[in-house]
Amino acid sequence: MLNLHNHTTYSDGRFSPRDIVEAAIRAGLSAVGISDHYRTKRVRSLLPSGIDEYVEHVRRLAIHYKNRIRVLVGVEIDASAERTEDIAYLPAAQLNKMDFLLFENVQDDEAGGLGLWELFDMRKELEPPVGLAHNDIARNFAEIDHSVLIPVLETSDLFLELCPSPRHGKLQRPLYRHSAEFFARLKNTKVGLSLGTDTHDSLDDVGNVDDAYAFVQEHGLEKNLIDRRFGI
Ligand SMILES: [Zn+2]
Repeated sequence: MLNLHNHTTYSDGRFSPRDIVEAAIRAGLSAVGISDHYRTKRVRSLLPSGIDEYVEHVRRLAIHYKNRIRVLVGVEIDASAERTEDIAYLPAAQLNKMDFLLFENVQDDEAGGLGLWELFDMRKELEPPVGLAHNDIARNFAEIDHSVLIPVLETSDLFLELCPSPRHGKLQRPLYRHSAEFFARLKNTKVGLSLGTDTHDSLDDVGNVDDAYAFVQEHGLEKNLIDRRFGI
């Protein structure tokens, strides 16, 4: 099992990448992704000048732990143009050194996030798998018919994260459970899914993917999990 969404002291997380990796091993995960915030005004985050060192650090850990767990490196990009000043000019060459990229607040009007169509254009420059982190699909895409949205996600090769963290819940339930009807329709489509806990301050969160995986099983979405794209 892969948890693709964990922050470290490289951005606003409390623990080092090594702490996260060791927590993932203890939790019995087969792979873990480090996904610190890329430059945003909202929280402490990685500047472009710090990206190379960050990637090298996580790559060294990946080698060190390679017989015990697969370690992936990515970043989380805030799609709010107000908070990420260079959102339209992302350093693609640096970002393309990563294993995956997460975008938060896409199509989220309240957060001033870019629309899916704008991300669509940006995505052409980006080589790694790109996903939407903890998106409130039911709210943000309320005006787009599922029969339109699903082919768009397939064509643009954007995966969706299932985030069980209470940080992103509504009415004490994870966001994906509010969009169950939509997710049920992803069975037998090419839309990828990832599990990500958005770990910040508790190492217990690293292994806390059970509800998200149960949701995958409830809707027969095992084949949508993007784990195999990483050879997991
Ligand atoms: Zn996050």
